[in-house]
Amino acid sequence: MQVAVLDEPGTLRVEERKRPEPEPDELLVNIREIGICGSDVHYYEHGKIGDYVVESPLVLGHESAGEVAAVGESTDFEPGERVALEPGVPCRRCEHCKRGEYNLCPDVTFMATPPDNGAFAEFVAWPADFAYRLPDSVSLREGALCEPLSVGIHAARRGNVGVGDSVLITGCGPIGLLAMEVVRAAGATEVFISDVVPEKLQVAESRGADATFDVRGTDLIDAVAEHTDGEGVDIVIEASGSEPAIRSTIDAVRRGGTVVLIGLAQDAEVPLDTGKIIDNELDMFGSFRYRNTYRAAVELLADGIVDVEGIVDFERALEDIGVAFERAREATTVKGMITT
Ligand SMILES: [Zn+2]
Ligand SMILES: [Zn+2]
Repeated sequence: MQVAVLDEPGTLRVEERKRPEPEPDELLVNIREIGICGSDVHYYEHGKIGDYVVESPLVLGHESAGEVAAVGESTDFEPGERVALEPGVPCRRCEHCKRGEYNLCPDVTFMATPPDNGAFAEFVAWPADFAYRLPDSVSLREGALCEPLSVGIHAARRGNVGVGDSVLITGCGPIGLLAMEVVRAAGATEVFISDVVPEKLQVAESRGADATFDVRGTDLIDAVAEHTDGEGVDIVIEASGSEPAIRSTIDAVRRGGTVVLIGLAQDAEVPLDTGKIIDNELDMFGSFRYRNTYRAAVELLADGIVDVEGIVDFERALEDIGVAFERAREATTVKGMITT
């Protein structure tokens, strides 16, 4: 089978590897659609993310869906079924796993996080309980995009987004745009989004943002105040990782409001006015990957409540992955897909 391997920064190579055999509790999945994530591009450019360093050839890709090609004997799947794969498989034994916070498991196997290989491959063997059946109305591309959609679902849950809430999302990448879909589904009635790339703001506008703020020329706090009678929004979801955006979250949110941080800043230490956090009694939440979101993601897609395909700019075949990554690096690209 063909796999795409990152040898060193800037070098993706397609090579032939032996097809894996599924364990008794695993499925062998013929991967058909894989999203290119910002983290994949980061590994491609820098060979590392924080403490995760690519030391030996790594298969990238963690947003995947495909068709079941073979089944382990203790699974209840059939060959030919279409599935989305949840890319993080926790240990199932630690305190976090037992509490149901399995996204916090320290012994997780996570696709495309060194040393674990990912899904830019024709076949992947994966535990059946981290594979989710897709109904006929959900495409394989949508199945693959359950992964970034899950990040949005978890963030919205962390922020307790509910009916009638106003939400500011900072960052118009795939996560910001999909978080926008989720907060709408959760009942948010005013959704604002900010970025520094006009093309991405246009995408957000065409997808129904109530207002978009280009923060290169607009003061974010002033813009939010103007749209909220000077109060600030109920919830801010920070999905850009930009330091000015992170700093502005506590000024854009109303007194008693909620801030959810997803975007990883280049320098993780960002000064925040803690007096303001206390005085305004803000709830500050980190949001790390997701847990128990895939069923919700599939249901939202099956019911047509969220749109994920509309964020895709292009798709390329696995053998053209180098070209695809160069395109994914462009500032105006929101989401690229690889097909096998
Ligand atoms: Zn991703
Ligand atoms: Zn665990």
